[in-house]
Amino acid sequence: MPELQKPSEEFLNSLKELLGSTGWREGDDARYLEEPRGNFRGQAALIVLPANVEEVSEIVKRCSTARVGIIPYGGGTGLVSGQLSLENDHSIILSLERMNKIRNVDVKNDSMLVEAGCILADIQSAALDENRLFPLSLASEGSCRIGGNLATNAGGIQVIRYGNARDLCLGIEAVLPDGSIYHGLTPLRKDNTGYDLRHMMIGSEGTLGIITAASLKLFPNPQNTATAFCAIPSPSHAISLLKFCREEMGETISAFELMCAQGMKVLANHFPQEQDPFKGEYNWFTLIEIAGPSGIEEKFETMLMSAFENGFLLDSVIASSSAQSQALWRLRELMAEANKLEGAICSSDTSVPKSQVDQFIEETDAALLALHPGLRVNKYGHMGDGNLHFNVFPPEGIGKAQFLSTYPTIQKDVRLVIDKQTHQMNGSISGEHGIGRLKRNELQRYSDPAKLAVMKSIKAALDPHGIMNPGAVFSD
Ligand SMILES: Cc1cc2nc3c(=O)[nH]c(=O)nc-3n(C[C@H](O)[C@H](O)[C@H](O)COP(=O)(O)OP(=O)(O)OC[C@H]3O[C@@H](n4cnc5c(N)ncnc54)[C@H](O)[C@@H]3O)c2cc1C
Repeated sequence: MPELQKPSEEFLNSLKELLGSTGWREGDDARYLEEPRGNFRGQAALIVLPANVEEVSEIVKRCSTARVGIIPYGGGTGLVSGQLSLENDHSIILSLERMNKIRNVDVKNDSMLVEAGCILADIQSAALDENRLFPLSLASEGSCRIGGNLATNAGGIQVIRYGNARDLCLGIEAVLPDGSIYHGLTPLRKDNTGYDLRHMMIGSEGTLGIITAASLKLFPNPQNTATAFCAIPSPSHAISLLKFCREEMGETISAFELMCAQGMKVLANHFPQEQDPFKGEYNWFTLIEIAGPSGIEEKFETMLMSAFENGFLLDSVIASSSAQSQALWRLRELMAEANKLEGAICSSDTSVPKSQVDQFIEETDAALLALHPGLRVNKYGHMGDGNLHFNVFPPEGIGKAQFLSTYPTIQKDVRLVIDKQTHQMNGSISGEHGIGRLKRNELQRYSDPAKLAVMKSIKAALDPHGIMNPGAVFSD
């Protein structure tokens, strides 16, 4: 990678002058240097907050000339430290938070135009105000921003029906590493005019440029929804239940999540006000949501009854109000915070073919217990997409710090076990969170060599000075 410079005081002052007093913060502003799991702290020379695409372009041009690194920053909810410089304080963080206008909701074209700094939940509500659905939905939706969602190709709970961020984006505006502006905002559904720069920028984690605005796809807002929390005998029953649901309910399944008893235990430890509907009686659960035309709730109930008769599920609770549905969803959405409070030493983002989720769970569990028989594992995730999060905790009664000091290599060993198992099953080490700085070595180890070589060529062609998010994605 080319050598980058630590920016001089003079250079930083020139950026401050360009942006005015509301357009920057000192580099030690803690809000931009922390990450959700509290494991790492970043550094920065300066935080810049441009107000429009022209300012973004000017900042990038100046950084390119001065060979200064830029880290694009959305809501800071990324889980792989793509938004943090862990190496040094030489880069500037560029936050899109002031570029947060919803420019339009175009009902006739089923699309909307938003700036990159819009919070995901605000985009969802603006669409709902026009009786349309923007279906990207994640537990961090109150803080993450659409630029970050696109840069990470975020997944979430409704991928099973609507796809991930990539599938929901019609076009983008972006500033490229030389400061030029790519004007790709379009509501077109079909446009085969050469390479699609939109798809190159989506999922590139800020290494190829800065997404400044996006044209998003909208859907009809289904009028009726129903949520059920089901107890199932095992993960293989979840696979059968999903198949059965698909056959009976078709495309109306909006979410199909898997959870386990260890997760419910961890949740009860830290959020005792949230109730396990089955009072600890069962080991495995699915949280299912359907949405569609009127009459869909009755069809769902009938389907669950036949699933019970067929032995796919042991018990189920159907929410009878939106408050109950929210209470069921909280069980799933609080899981990330509960894992952190419990002291997870590793959190995976594994994706495997969904037909092999049960085999993956069984074999990985066994391999982890062989590594250390006391490890506790909370296995949960977007089962409908084959995307699981394995959260591994120290044995009961032993704190994280104590465990890590007794077994200094355990974190690395646990990750290796999960990654190896994933690779053996032709899975992915990053189902939805990306590579960032935490999985660079794993990308190098497990990626297809031809793919990695093309990625490096694209990076070198677009960003020859290596200023865009230096240290992210690539390990050399
Ligand atoms: C509780 C919780 C639950 C989560 N659940 C999910 C989930 O279900 N599915 C999922 O996919 N993720 C999930 N995440 C991870 C995270 O929310 C997503 O990765 C999200 O898309 C990140 O958006 P952000 O705006 O916070 O981006 P940031 O964290 O600010 O940045 C993430 C990456 O994108 C780059 N970036 C940010 N903005 C831009 C831009 N405008 N242009 C170019 N690059 C940019 C950054 O440099 C960085 O590399 C969860 C996180 C938390 C804390």
